[in-house]
Amino acid sequence: MKVLITGGAGFIGSHLAEKLIERGDEVYIIDNLSTGRLENIKHLAKNENFHYTIDSIMNEKAMDNLASKCEHIYHLAAAVGVKLIMDKPIETIETNVRGTEIVLKVANRYKCKVLIASTSEIYGNHVLHSLHEDDNRVMGSVKKRRWAYAASKATDEFLALAYYDEKKLPVVITRFFNTVGPRQTGTYGMVIPNFIQDALLDKPITVYGDGDQSRSFTYVGDVVDAVIKLMSHPDAVGNIFNIGSEEEITINELASKVKEMAASKSAITHIPYEEVYGKGFEDMRKRVPNINRIKELIGYKSTADIDMIIKSVIEYFKS
Ligand code: UDP
Repeated sequence: MKVLITGGAGFIGSHLAEKLIERGDEVYIIDNLSTGRLENIKHLAKNENFHYTIDSIMNEKAMDNLASKCEHIYHLAAAVGVKLIMDKPIETIETNVRGTEIVLKVANRYKCKVLIASTSEIYGNHVLHSLHEDDNRVMGSVKKRRWAYAASKATDEFLALAYYDEKKLPVVITRFFNTVGPRQTGTYGMVIPNFIQDALLDKPITVYGDGDQSRSFTYVGDVVDAVIKLMSHPDAVGNIFNIGSEEEITINELASKVKEMAASKSAITHIPYEEVYGKGFEDMRKRVPNINRIKELIGYKSTADIDMIIKSVIEYFKS
């Protein structure tokens, strides 16, 4: 199988490339190294089935050339990380909307099957216990910058489903819930690498807000296995799948757990969101997926609980 991964030098993309190479696929990646890193794919570069292009997905000519060679496209390139979204809203909106437009256009030209990596941010500021793929979305005001990310990714989903309906393009949409694991950096705001890096240096672990907000964290290996299975399942086409864990943890509990597991002397401190992200930032109190759909279709289950995830990231940063 010939496969293209956009964002293939990124955190999730590089793990996916590794897995597809292992099973014998010919893998092409494109990455502009905005948040991806060459270091993530260095170990793959010598493999004759691995080809990388350092360029933007906005370069339609480059994208056309790559799509013409491939049967499957995993579209992972996007502006990600709450910090990046707050700092660079134009880049976020343009990359996510125009980039996906180009991916779908070239995929349709060569009739490639496409997986669109979307996000749990799509659900917005929900208070439901667990979020089902067909739930309504609860978006904050347009003046609150964070929601630009959710809106841009929702546009991607609409466009993908429109290609499926109007052009019969085979598309699969996946919504990732706080994917974590080795190679994720804390540079763009993600909580686990930030907490662990600070804990290992005995620096204060900084919780934003009151820390009672909760999340469920998904191991990157589980995400990669799930997207590969979904791409090879005929009944996944034209549908949307949550990929996440049902194990919920508050950010306060997470901070204590990281401190303990890293045997750290760090203090745990709290700072208001405004100090980190500026005025008018809105965070969601809770975010846990309903994963019945993916369980039923491919028998998905998490292989790593929060302790195993933290352990793997501690080991990564220590090495
Ligand atoms: N967070 C935190 N300290 C950090 C980074 C994040 O307390 O150094 C909080 C953040 O405000 C959010 C949660 O941890 O409530 C998860 O943040 P992340 O940016 O990892 O993902 P999100 O779920 O917000 O997309």
